[in-house]
Amino acid sequence: MANRIPQEIIEEVLQQSNIVDVVGEYVALRKRGRNYFGLCPFHNEDTPSFSVNEDKQIYKCFGCGQGGNVIGFLQELEHIPFADAVRRLADRHGIKIPEKDLSPEEQRRMQERQSLLAMHQLAAKFYAERLEQSRLAQAYLKKRGISPEAADRFGLGAAPEEDWQALHNALSAAGYSEQLQLLSGLVSRSAKNGRCYDKFHGRLIFPIRDARGAVIAFGGRSINEEQPKYLNSQTSPIYNKSQHLYGLDLAGDAIRSRGQVVIMEGYMDVLSAHQYGVENAVASLGTAFTGEQARLLHRYAPNPPDQLEVLLAFDGDGAGAKAALASLERLANYEFTQPRALVFPEQLDPDDFLRRYGQAGWQRLLEKYAYPTLDYLLLKAMERHDSSTAAGKGAIVTELLPAMRRCRNATELDSFILQLSRTLHVSEAAIRADLSRGGRSSSPTERSSPSRPVRLPTACRPGRPCRPANRQLLIFGLSDKNIFETATAQLGENFPSTEEEAQLIAFIQELGAEYDFDPRTLFNHLDSEKEGLRQFLLKLLETDCPTDDREQLARDYICSIQRQAKKERLLQLQKQIAEADQSKEDTLALMKEKYELTRELKGL
Ligand SMILES: [Zn+2]
Repeated sequence: MANRIPQEIIEEVLQQSNIVDVVGEYVALRKRGRNYFGLCPFHNEDTPSFSVNEDKQIYKCFGCGQGGNVIGFLQELEHIPFADAVRRLADRHGIKIPEKDLSPEEQRRMQERQSLLAMHQLAAKFYAERLEQSRLAQAYLKKRGISPEAADRFGLGAAPEEDWQALHNALSAAGYSEQLQLLSGLVSRSAKNGRCYDKFHGRLIFPIRDARGAVIAFGGRSINEEQPKYLNSQTSPIYNKSQHLYGLDLAGDAIRSRGQVVIMEGYMDVLSAHQYGVENAVASLGTAFTGEQARLLHRYAPNPPDQLEVLLAFDGDGAGAKAALASLERLANYEFTQPRALVFPEQLDPDDFLRRYGQAGWQRLLEKYAYPTLDYLLLKAMERHDSSTAAGKGAIVTELLPAMRRCRNATELDSFILQLSRTLHVSEAAIRADLSRGGRSSSPTERSSPSRPVRLPTACRPGRPCRPANRQLLIFGLSDKNIFETATAQLGENFPSTEEEAQLIAFIQELGAEYDFDPRTLFNHLDSEKEGLRQFLLKLLETDCPTDDREQLARDYICSIQRQAKKERLLQLQKQIAEADQSKEDTLALMKEKYELTRELKGL
């Protein structure tokens, strides 16, 4: 594990953080009994199965199985590496992590990120300064009706048309190495002559900023007929398009205060929207909305997040509609229960619509033409099939079935079936029959967060039932070195009663001196490859067990396990003896062992 933050600091961070406070920033928690409960931020659910245990400082979701300590929670939720999560928590509590304690690799990565950010800031300035001189860019903005104020707010720029090395030269003059320039993707090296050229030329430039407003990438719209129409920064150490939303830095406040977000497809749409007062508009940077983007929105959502009204303003054409549908379904998986897609009249795209009808038109559109998933699907299916023929009706219903089966809200589904039957003049019974024919595909995988397959609660392996004595002993051993070592020494392979217990014991033995017998720190060693173990550990930590007189109890457990092991061996022997050829010598050995075991058992 790339974990060079000193162990003492990690422990101090765990000591000082209260998981209830940290989780509480993302999830509305209510105390029930000894635990806090809320709606799980990692999967979609209607009733809270996400719990936080303040005493043990762990969280656990009984629905999707997610769980761990406070560091793991931040890692999962924010998609950040272990060290970053520790650093954030340390920041909260004013715990200093000396830079020298970062591993050389971490230091290098941090400096690289900082340089890349500074370089992007410089590049944004470089492009912005050229906006005014670019006749093509100015003409384009005018044509699209973008005001100079909006252009300024979004930091628009222009990449020079003639000089294909202008940015490269400017960055080099500012002292940025070629290597860093190539890493950013703003510059690439020609395979032919080995020279560096700018990625963007003859384009209107849209800086892509993170939620805090730092420039992390660029999008470029061709203004001189050059293909492709849109060209975007590639993934870099500071940019991954699936994790950001264009315009969020400017839209965040409006989203919060209106309790509503409008998700659009393109940069220009967002610019127009803001210019026309739709200041809660953002754009997904790919075609369909990602789970990470949904989680990003959670931060701007009221709690519970289903109170955030999510509207999709995508183009009505084939690709746009497809992306809208994919996004609607994904959003529903992230607790935005009633996301809706806007349908623009007269085949207009959102940008044209706003320019023609302005904010008043927009309001009317929201009131009348915002369609929930199923209705939107129906609309799109009816565009493609002839609903006046039996074959057309059949095709429409068939197209809708999968989404209907995925619908989790019975009332919603019911009223949709009624509507569908009226629209198509098909009986409700027929639709319901079709619906049940395919079987309700309500498998947990289909219904929950797509980015993370659902794990069933860890169960002991069939055939090897978990025994309470072994389990309790292991739980004691997790936080008591003495008990752990005694159990290992006296029980050997009989210490675990299940495969999982065996794995955990082996894992702790492997850690050796690295493990300080504070079970919370164990999570820090369990990366994603050891997900099964993580789950198992969580389960163990949730188990209530006596706190007094653990040593005496541990001795009793060891005794009982030994006895159990002997009994089992005895049964095995009896079977072997019964099956064996009586005349053979090994039968004698078996009988001798049986005799001794019986004696031992009596003595125990
Ligand atoms: Zn969950």
